[in-house]
Amino acid sequence: MPKNAALHARRLAATPRGVGVLGDFFVERAENAVLWDMEGCRFIDFAAGIAVLNTGHRHPKLVAAVKAQLDAFTHTCYQVVPYEGYVQLAEKLNQIVPIDGPKKTAFFSTGAEAVENAVKIARAATGRSGIIAFSGGFHGRTMMGMALTGKVNPYKLNFGPMPADVFHAPFPVDLHGVSSADSLKHLHMLFKADIDPKRVAAIIIEPVQGEGGFYSVPKPFFTELRKLCDEHGILLIADEVQTGFARTGKTFAMEHYDVKPDLMTMAKSLAGGFPLSAVTGRADLMDAPSPGGLGGTYAGSPLAIAAALAVLDVIETEQLNARAERLGAALKEKLASLKPVVPQIADIRGLGFMVAVEFNKPGSDEPDADFAKKVQTEAIKRGLILLTCGVYSNVIRFLAPLTIDDATFAEALDILDAAMKA
Ligand code: PMP
Repeated sequence: MPKNAALHARRLAATPRGVGVLGDFFVERAENAVLWDMEGCRFIDFAAGIAVLNTGHRHPKLVAAVKAQLDAFTHTCYQVVPYEGYVQLAEKLNQIVPIDGPKKTAFFSTGAEAVENAVKIARAATGRSGIIAFSGGFHGRTMMGMALTGKVNPYKLNFGPMPADVFHAPFPVDLHGVSSADSLKHLHMLFKADIDPKRVAAIIIEPVQGEGGFYSVPKPFFTELRKLCDEHGILLIADEVQTGFARTGKTFAMEHYDVKPDLMTMAKSLAGGFPLSAVTGRADLMDAPSPGGLGGTYAGSPLAIAAALAVLDVIETEQLNARAERLGAALKEKLASLKPVVPQIADIRGLGFMVAVEFNKPGSDEPDADFAKKVQTEAIKRGLILLTCGVYSNVIRFLAPLTIDDATFAEALDILDAAMKA
């Protein structure tokens, strides 16, 4: 039996279906924007481990930094015997994260854990319990992450009850008939019908929804949200787990806005494939939890910290923000050129290289998830890994490494062309 098929059969027997897997091929090795499966088939990787590899697979600077760390020490638990890298990375993030005033940073391992801890910090700092999130938002698969996530199937299905005091407002997406005014009206309604605003600790929002479909928060809406927070003493948490680290053409998506959050969550591309997440926030808020209230056995692993310091160096030296702008513009141009021949294309959008294309049934407003799935399948057949997203699963999102070389990028656009027309 071919290696992929044999492993696929073993996977089905040994692991639960709840851990859903995109394809039936298994990786053997990877380099920058390309990976090879166990039978030697080559794939251009436009999933990048779901927005984790903005600096590509195995960037030489990352590999060197992690190797050096392996040779020094691999684990002490930061809370038992601390190390300089943790402090150094915190100092660096405090410098570059777009939050006003003195800042502090704590490290964790996953995006969901960063979200959990941002909520803990917000509750400790405000003495309040309520948290408001948005429909279509994604914040993780832990209990609170899942509760905050604004999509039932599959994330919340059969996992209830959810933690108390979590509320959702509709995320403003004009394309789906939800204006910023509608969303604000709903927030005011929440304050009337469900929770006194003085009991709300925080509002959490992705500046560009990731899993939800790559919709950006409209600028005036963010300004209104900040005003609402200030009026009621509510903290604003920006979840930059998917948008961070040059994906949108800025180091953080919040830099596209005039608004400053109070707390920010980061993960994914922060450490280029090593499990690391962070919460950076106003120092006074970050110091609210008591000593021992934050942390974790693996939180801020020295190997991941070493990788993250290399990632920040690569973003700067290889000017990945500018590269994201250039690649994103070229991709959007390609998609626009396909619009006349692919009537399912309803919208092309994106900040920097966080680009998506949304499909509706031709001549209607009805989401076309089948077409998105078909494009994805045809692309994978031709050696290009694409991801779908969106509340209606009718969106293809593009998350290629920002370090992709021009020839591979051009090859990927050709495959995309063929897959869309297939
Ligand atoms: N927040 C956002 C915005 C995300 O995109 C994700 C992951 N897709 C998470 C939180 C959860 O991150 P993790 O899977 O690392 O727990």
